[in-house]
Amino acid sequence: MAENVRVAVRVRPFNTREKERNAVLIIDMKGNTTEIKDPAAPKGEKPRTFTFDFSYWSHDGFKEEQDGYLSPSGSRYADQRKVFNDLGQSVLDNAWKGYNCSLFAYGQTGSGKSYSMTGYGNNKGIVPICCEELFKGIEEKKKTAQKGEEFQVQVSMLEIYNEQVRDLLTSKKAPKGGLKVRQHPSKGFYVESLITCPVNSYADIDNKYQEGARNRTVAATQMNATSSRAHTIVGIYFTQKTLNDAGENMTKSSILYLVDLAGSERAESTGATGDRLKEGSAINQSLSTLGNVIKALADKGSGQSGVMVPFRNSVLTKLLKNALDGNSKTIMIAALSPADINYEETLSTLRFADRAKAIKTTATVNESPTD
Ligand code: ADP
Ligand code: MG
Repeated sequence: MAENVRVAVRVRPFNTREKERNAVLIIDMKGNTTEIKDPAAPKGEKPRTFTFDFSYWSHDGFKEEQDGYLSPSGSRYADQRKVFNDLGQSVLDNAWKGYNCSLFAYGQTGSGKSYSMTGYGNNKGIVPICCEELFKGIEEKKKTAQKGEEFQVQVSMLEIYNEQVRDLLTSKKAPKGGLKVRQHPSKGFYVESLITCPVNSYADIDNKYQEGARNRTVAATQMNATSSRAHTIVGIYFTQKTLNDAGENMTKSSILYLVDLAGSERAESTGATGDRLKEGSAINQSLSTLGNVIKALADKGSGQSGVMVPFRNSVLTKLLKNALDGNSKTIMIAALSPADINYEETLSTLRFADRAKAIKTTATVNESPTD
């Protein structure tokens, strides 16, 4: 059955730059409603409102534990656990059922995409908690597993940088022009000769993830000295060989795509020049294609017929095709800056997220008799 992409927004605390500039808070959340105030609007003008499946207030109302974990000091603050419980847990549950799932983070550089996806230090994000919980689940199942029952996990990690694909699970130099993206008649677009590593524990997967992070292209911009200018896609391939009620050997498989997109800001606002500008425009090409794809899919989702969806116009949208238009349960998390100085970017993120709500995908359980 077709179902809508679920969309969450999350607003972070002020960063140092915003504090130094005496930034004014322009975001507010009430229930599932997110409000944004135009700092230039006349006093008394009503803020714009958007509604999403989840609105996470992570701006204030937290305390830092001894181990660095940010936990709620009131009822309003959404911590990493809360976000995992809502979004990550459903990804996991669906993976166990044999559905493909995709989770992607959108927003300008420094808005909190990586914080939600990967996290920092003890504030682990959705991806590591998902991996940890997946292996906990597997260990539990193994205790009562019957003969022939088996669980396998593999992982891949790639980045798209200047429209080229690079495997992050190897330190070998990518071939000129990057890895090839090809199309399989039934499975859709895929990256040729991408490494998928078998992993047997959370520690294994964490090591791979760290290795990938080290291989990632990181270029400083004025916006955020450690931000990546590339799109990162982590794939987790989960296979369960089990017996069904009739005692037949069945294989269930699920692919999870966890996508940390490059910053959505326009090149001008980052002060980029030269090579950085080239990156900026390639990122914008990829992201503007994503914007067009989302718009077309939203029109299609709202019942318009004959809509052309320009998936082929960028590497990113080819690889996200399944997540956005195919066999996948998909969640988007849009990361927001709370500050007036980022008003334009934040409004554009909210509009993007708002359109994504109309997208429909049709996920089916991937199960077949074991061969
Ligand atoms: P992005 O990946 O979008 O460029 P990051 O996730 O790296 O941005 O976040 C930028 C900074 O903001 C980081 O220092 C991060 O720790 C902080 N931050 C982001 N989201 C939150 C949050 N929900 N709570 C606390 N700090 C956050
Ligand atoms: Mg990031």
